[in-house]
Amino acid sequence: MFPRIVIHGGAGTILKTEITTEKEVAYKLALKEALQKGFAILSAKGSAIDAVTAAIVSLEDCPLFNAGKGSVFNAEGRHEMDASIMSGDNLSAGAITGVMNVKNPIVLAKTVMQQSEHVFLMGEGAEIFARKHELKFELDDYFYDEFRYQQWLKIKGTDTITLDHSKEKKFGTVGAVALDAFGNLAAGTSTGGMTNKRYGRVGDSPIIGAGTYANNATCAISCTGHGELFIRNVVAYDISCLMEYKGLSLHEACRIVVHEKLVKMGGEGGLIAIDAQGNIALPFNSDGMYRGWMRSTDDFLTEIYS
Ligand code: ASP
Repeated sequence: MFPRIVIHGGAGTILKTEITTEKEVAYKLALKEALQKGFAILSAKGSAIDAVTAAIVSLEDCPLFNAGKGSVFNAEGRHEMDASIMSGDNLSAGAITGVMNVKNPIVLAKTVMQQSEHVFLMGEGAEIFARKHELKFELDDYFYDEFRYQQWLKIKGTDTITLDHSKEKKFGTVGAVALDAFGNLAAGTSTGGMTNKRYGRVGDSPIIGAGTYANNATCAISCTGHGELFIRNVVAYDISCLMEYKGLSLHEACRIVVHEKLVKMGGEGGLIAIDAQGNIALPFNSDGMYRGWMRSTDDFLTEIYS
């Protein structure tokens, strides 16, 4: 099996006319670095889970994306993060939501998957679990990004919640899917959610079946977009089901879900997908999606616009 990895850094109103050349270069470089980190693990016969984690950690550590460092501000001016990960070989999964100050939420999700008997931990309990497993914490300052702060100031104190990628044309949730040399699939997603969110709002990213899903029998999926619509459409699992029960190809299943079902309901966004044969799909119904794939160190792609 020839291993490969696919990543995204968020989808939405990303227009070429609104991004400077330097920004474009910076985004593409960050995507390439994440691909390289994940692919290095795959080519050393590492697991799809470890490759997905390494790629997402790289994106979480980069302030350009709305995950880990650079996460959006919630209504209280804090960073509340969500993440999930799933392994396609035995359907094991780990997820966390509403977590603060954890440096790499995806590592916490993976730790939940591998070192607890649970799948989904929230808030304070998830943080206690993270401390018990000696995961890295950072102060609020570490997560601060001036652009996200200005985004929040504009709607602070109002009832408005915005997608990181709505008016400001900026995206950010990150994700990765991979196929390793042993034929195993994995998927992971990490996000700061929506700017000015409150009441403990949770999007699709940490929800297995909605924002993330992996099954060796079908495919691995990581989503980005308007979380509420992705939850209602159970997007990631729906694609797997269309393949499993209807025998559709990865591309056809992705087309139906992203370009028909989601569009009909006004669900803006996209996803990355890989199937057990190594086919790759990166569909989105928005103006752009930060995305990329790597099949060997000199066979890779990084793209932003449609
Ligand atoms: N899907 C994420 C959420 O709703 C947002 C995003 O993809 O940027 O929390």
